[in-house]
Amino acid sequence: MADLTFDTLRQANITRQQEWPGYEQTDTTFKALEVCGEAGELAEAVKKLVRVERGIAGTTVNLEAVADELADVVISVDLLAEHLGITDEAA
Ligand SMILES: [Mg+2]
Repeated sequence: MADLTFDTLRQANITRQQEWPGYEQTDTTFKALEVCGEAGELAEAVKKLVRVERGIAGTTVNLEAVADELADVVISVDLLAEHLGITDEAA
């Protein structure tokens, strides 16, 4: 993780995205909705983590699950940025 840079993340995302079925059909709207969806999943995971912290009954998660959703948000944001031609120099 310490060696991860925006450039290596971008390259990994581009490669992985091209392996997804329907990749060529994704556009700005799709990618923006993907960011929103992943942000919602992160919010849900954080809510469940707060349940643990406060002793509230219901479905709970651990910090690793929150970290996974956080990574999904970062990846989806980078894919949207890549689609729009935004580089780390431009951001
Ligand atoms: Mg997710």
